[in-house]
Amino acid sequence: MDFIDLKSQYAALRDNINARMQAVLDHGQYILGPEVKEMEAALVAYTGAKHCISVASGTEALLICLMALDLQPGDEVITSPFTFAATAEMIVLAGGVPVFVDIEPDTANIDATLIEAAITPRTKAIMPVSLYGQVADINAINAIADKHGLAVIEDAAQSFGATYQSKKSCNLSTFGCTSFFPSKPLGCYGDGGAIFTSDDRLAQACREIRTHGQSQRYLHTRVGVGGRMDTLQCAVVLGKLDRFGWEIERRLALGDAYARKLKAAVPGLQLLAVRGDRDCVWAQYTVFVDEREAVQARLKQAGIPTAVHYPRPLHHQPAYARYADAQACPHSVLAAQRVMSLPMSADLTDEQQDRVVSALAAAL
Ligand SMILES: *Cc1c(COP(=O)(O)O)cnc(C)c1O
Repeated sequence: MDFIDLKSQYAALRDNINARMQAVLDHGQYILGPEVKEMEAALVAYTGAKHCISVASGTEALLICLMALDLQPGDEVITSPFTFAATAEMIVLAGGVPVFVDIEPDTANIDATLIEAAITPRTKAIMPVSLYGQVADINAINAIADKHGLAVIEDAAQSFGATYQSKKSCNLSTFGCTSFFPSKPLGCYGDGGAIFTSDDRLAQACREIRTHGQSQRYLHTRVGVGGRMDTLQCAVVLGKLDRFGWEIERRLALGDAYARKLKAAVPGLQLLAVRGDRDCVWAQYTVFVDEREAVQARLKQAGIPTAVHYPRPLHHQPAYARYADAQACPHSVLAAQRVMSLPMSADLTDEQQDRVVSALAAAL
């Protein structure tokens, strides 16, 4: 069993994806070719955001947003330490200071009630992460941001396709940034990502920054990056979109089924909480266990792959330890010791899922 089954997905979409890629090879516009605009338009229609700017990766999306906000050295950005490194990494790379605010122990998303106490005169933005595919309390976060004149950047690398109060992830705040890394809910076959915003001025800034700060060819009005997404990768995303609605439905159903089956087979197992006004697209299907290493080893013996997202909170990583005391954010510290992700993808079969559940019951 694969932890994430991309082979079955390709088998189902092969003709579509091959034809899309062949079209690029035939027209030869490998950079900013017609598929780039076509994908951006399709994702605008899907999310409801006014603008989509495709970029080289989810990491690059975060960086370009921060550059568009004109982050100055020492400006602070509030975020969660319980995330992939890229979130804090881009804050630091853009010259900012990550300010870590702890997570809710049941959803593992940033605790919005702790944000206001972390705001200082240097705060420029709040960057909540929609971890595992569930949006954080973004209404509360947006309200705090409005009150203090801050931008909100949703790190939606894991949540493309998720819904929050009938709106789509990526269309909930100043910016939404997603990733098309192959294993994400909407993946390409390499690196790719996108920025979403409904602010015309910021969208224009992102477009310019994406291509070396050019407002027209060879007129560099600002400092930018080489941050475009390849036409071929956009073609892959387009080839996957026909089935994407089904995939999201299937992910939601598999998430519900995991919860139902695990509650029956492993009473007392702590599952991730999903709030009633939103869903989770399960970029990772993550549960909380004690003695994780031993459980993982037993599952591996039973042929069930697992992973850990993430084994250390960022303030316990050498590169980011200077931004918080080791004792800070205790829920993040504890979650990092206990989280374990189970096999999950739209092509996971019911039988495979049953095998995972019985193996976990046996392992515990
Ligand atoms: C994957 C991921 C990123 C980075 O995306 P890339 O496309 O791999 O650069 C950023 N933040 C989170 C939370 C992620 O899961």
